[in-house]
Amino acid sequence: MFKRGIGDTTDIVEKEMFVFDDKGGEKLALRPEGTASIVRAYIENKLYSSSNLSKYYYYGPMFRRERPQKGRFRQFTQVGVEVFGSNAPAVDAEVMKTMSEIFDKSGISNLVKLNINSLGCPDCRPDYRKKLISFLNSKRKNLCEDCKNRLEKNPLRVLDCKLESCKAEVVDAPLMIDNLCPTCFEHFEDVKGFLNHFGVNYEINPFMVRGLDYYVRTAFEFTTDFLGASNAVGGGGRYDGLIKTLGGPDIPGIGYAIGVDRLVALMMEKKVEIGKRLKVFIIFFKDTMEDGFYLIDKLRSENITTIFDYEIGSLKSQFKKADKSGADIAIIVGSDEKERGIYTIKNMRNGTQKEIKKELIINEIKNITSIGGI
Ligand code: AMP
Repeated sequence: MFKRGIGDTTDIVEKEMFVFDDKGGEKLALRPEGTASIVRAYIENKLYSSSNLSKYYYYGPMFRRERPQKGRFRQFTQVGVEVFGSNAPAVDAEVMKTMSEIFDKSGISNLVKLNINSLGCPDCRPDYRKKLISFLNSKRKNLCEDCKNRLEKNPLRVLDCKLESCKAEVVDAPLMIDNLCPTCFEHFEDVKGFLNHFGVNYEINPFMVRGLDYYVRTAFEFTTDFLGASNAVGGGGRYDGLIKTLGGPDIPGIGYAIGVDRLVALMMEKKVEIGKRLKVFIIFFKDTMEDGFYLIDKLRSENITTIFDYEIGSLKSQFKKADKSGADIAIIVGSDEKERGIYTIKNMRNGTQKEIKKELIINEIKNITSIGGI
C-alpha cells in the first residue's frame, strides 16, 4: 500500500520505511505517514457511498528510518487532516487555513511561513518533466550523487535538494508554475485568491516540490528558521489520483500532516506556556463555611481550578497563602458579603478589587478565562 500510494522512488519508501517479515512470514511495514492508510480505510469501508464530501483527521506515531538529528526522529508524531470529494480551489485554501490556525492557536504563527506551489497534473507535468530532465542533464556533472539518481527517477526532487551546490545549479531551471496547463493555472490562481479571502499569508515557492509522488496541483509547506535543517513543520497537498491508484473510485483528495514534535519544539523555543489555567483561591471563615464550600463546589464543577486554605486562618494569613499558591484571583466570602449577596473578587496580579453579585460569579470567572487570564 505504501509503495503504491507514496511511490517507490520516493525517499520515504526507498530509504526510510521500516519493513520486516513477522514470524508468520508476512511482510509488515511501520507506517511512515497517514494518508495512504486513511485512503485504504475509506475505500475498504466504502465511505464514499454515504457522503460526497468527507473530512477526516488523525493523530499518532509515524516511523521513518532517518538519521536522527535536531527535530528529526525515527518515531515521531503527526496530526493530519484529509478532505475527500472535491477539487474546488476553496477546499485547498480552507485546508491551509486550518493549518495556519493551529499555528496561531499554538502561539507560534510568527515563527512559521507558508510556502505554496503548483505541481501540475497528469496533463501538463509529463511535458514539463521532459523539459526539466533535459535542463538537468546539462548540469549533471555538478549535481550530488542523490540528485544524479533523482534525475532519472524523480527529477522534480532535484529542485528541492538541500545542498547549496545543487541549489546553485537549479536557479535557472524551468519551473512547473510557468508550464501549467490552463486548468491547473486557473486552479492555482483561485487557490491564491481564496487564501487572500481567508486572510492567510503565503509565499510562492516554485522550488518546493515535496517528497511524495501522489501530489498534483497544490503543494504547501509551513517552514521555520528556528529548527536548523529540519525546517518543515508541516506540509501537504492535493492528491486527486491517489484514491483511484489504491483501488477506489476516482475521487479527488487533499490533506496535510503537522509534525507535532517540531510544533512543540517551536512552542518551547517561544516559551509558550502549555496548559496554563486560571487558578482561583476562595477565602472564607468559620461563620461562612457553608457559602465557601458551596462556591468551591460550584467552580470545580465548572472545571475551574479552585483551592482554599485547609486551616481556615485569618484574612491576612489566607491572603498570604493565596499569594504563595500563585492564584490569579481570590474570591472573598466574608460575613459582610454573605449578608449583601455578593462576593469580593481580588485580582492577585495587580491588586484591584471589585464586588460582584453572587449569581454572576461563574460568568465573571469564565469571562476572565476566555480572554486568556488576567
Ligand atoms: P511529510 O509527511 O514528510 O510531509 O511530513 C510532514 C511533517 O511531519 C513534516 O513537516 C515534519 O514536521 C514532520 N516530520 C516528518 N518527518 C519527521 C521526522 N523524521 N521527525 C520529526 N518530524 C518529522
